[in-house]
Parts: sequence; structure tokens; C-alpha cells
Amino acid sequence: MLLIGSHVSFNPEQLLSSVKEAISYNANTFMFYTGAPTNTIRKEINPELLKQAQELMNKNGIDISNVICHAPYIINLANNKDPDKWQFSINFLRQEIERCQELGIKTIVLHPGSAVAISKEEGIKNIINALDKILPFSQGVTIALETMAGKGSECGSNIQEITQIINGVSDNQYLGVCLDTCHLNDAGYDMSKFDEFLNEFKKYISVDKIKCVHINDSKNVQSSHKDRHANIGFGTIGFDNILKIVHHPTLIKIPKILETPYIGENDEDKNRIYPPYKFEINMLKNQQFDADILNKIREYYK
Ligand code: FE
Ligand code: FE
Ligand code: ZN
Repeated sequence: MLLIGSHVSFNPEQLLSSVKEAISYNANTFMFYTGAPTNTIRKEINPELLKQAQELMNKNGIDISNVICHAPYIINLANNKDPDKWQFSINFLRQEIERCQELGIKTIVLHPGSAVAISKEEGIKNIINALDKILPFSQGVTIALETMAGKGSECGSNIQEITQIINGVSDNQYLGVCLDTCHLNDAGYDMSKFDEFLNEFKKYISVDKIKCVHINDSKNVQSSHKDRHANIGFGTIGFDNILKIVHHPTLIKIPKILETPYIGENDEDKNRIYPPYKFEINMLKNQQFDADILNKIREYYK
């Protein structure tokens, strides 16, 4: 069965809110941030809400081992120019992993980091050193390094850089990869030839290191290094290419997560934005593109 969901909110009822939102999209998995991705304010996990979330997942056939947490963007393991900030990133990721352990989450997606004002080579070395301080405590929770678009000084925007990190740490049992189709396109990989990409990947990294796939179309052309997500079928990758990735036999057991933009984000009235996920999931399940979907989403939510 296709494992598909989207990123959802963790507010106001923590994991229970996430589960409810995922169910409203007919999703059988989902991804969430444990708090705002840009700050460090986190509430204690509420055991009663967690219990209700677990019951709701059981009732709806959502397996927690397919649910994904995304680490906040403020974590940057690549840059140690300011040792305090670097240490803060390490500590905060460890805390996020502990929260995953509390919640029963098995996978946390991480942006490897940006090598601001230092070489990428040094950045990657810092990431490896940081992960060596974190991974011994990650028992049961796999850190999935997300493939990046190569914006600015982002590390991990090609298979070789991801490989360096995976092979560089002392113990990579709990280190994996999250593919992001928009990022791969923007980084220079041709998503219309996904099998070629996978074959290249397999030369360096075992495919069972792939723990999650972010499914996004891209607003920009291949190799643009931009990282702007588009709705499925409305970008440069296109519906048919995305459909092949979503239903790829090699990735059948891997959760696919949509991070496509809300509809109406560019409208004047910013209070009226609508999640596209229920409709995009439906389209990917039916394997049929609907060119009128954006209007249908507006109709449904208004
Ligand atoms: Fe991400
Ligand atoms: Fe992503
Ligand atoms: Zn992105």
C-alpha cells in the first residue's frame, strides 16, 4: 500500500493534532515539527494527549514507525565558527531526539547544515564531529540527512557529500537519508530519470538507508539551486515523473511526505490559505492529474 502523507501541525494538542490533521487528508503517515522550526520553545509532552494520539493512530491504521519528525532549521551542525552556537545545535538536536523517543518516533529528518564563512569540506567535517557526539544517544531514532538544493553554502546537496557524512561518522547504524524531489531537481539531478539517480545513489549508499522521501514539485529548473516547492504537477518536475517516484517499487515501504505550498499564499488576503494535501494525496493515489485541482481546493475549503 502507498505510504503517503504531508507535513502537519503539532499544535495545539501535540501529536493528537497531527494525527487528526493527517486523517483529514486521508493520509496514512505524516511529518511534524515538535515546535516552531525557527525557535527552541518546546512544551513538555503531555502523556494523556499522547495516549489519545496513539489510540487514534491504531484505529486508523497509522503505524508510528512510519511517522516522521523534522528537526528545526535553527540547528546548524556545519558551522563551528561560534563554538557556543555549534554546541547549542548539538544539544538541541539531542533534546529533539529525546522527544522523538518519548513520542515513539523512529525517524528525524535533519538538514545537514550550511558552511557559512568556511569551506564545504570543513563544514562536512563539523557535521561528522557533531553527529559523533549525538548518534551514541540516538538509540532507536534514525537521523535522516535530507538532500539539499545547494542554496548558498548548504552541505549535502549531492550523493557524494551525503556519502562523506554517512561514511565519516564512527557508527552510522542510526544515520540515514531523506530524499527531497524538489531539492534533488534544484541540485542538478534529472527527476525524469529517477532510475538513473537511484543507480548512482546505490553505488555509494545502500538503498535501505533511505528513510523518507519528500514529494514536491519545483518552481525552478534543474540545477537552479533555489529550493522553492511547487504543487504536484504545477512545477518543472511534472506529475508523471513524480508519480513514478511515488509508486517506485524500491521505495514502496518508505513514507512519502508532501511539503507543497498552501493554496492562496500569494493572494492579498493572507488569512485565507488552504492545504492542498487531501487533494494531492488523492491525485497520487488515483494516478490521474487534475489540472483544475487548485480551484477545487479553494472551493472545498471556502
Ligand atoms: Fe526539510
Ligand atoms: Fe524537504
Ligand atoms: Zn525545500
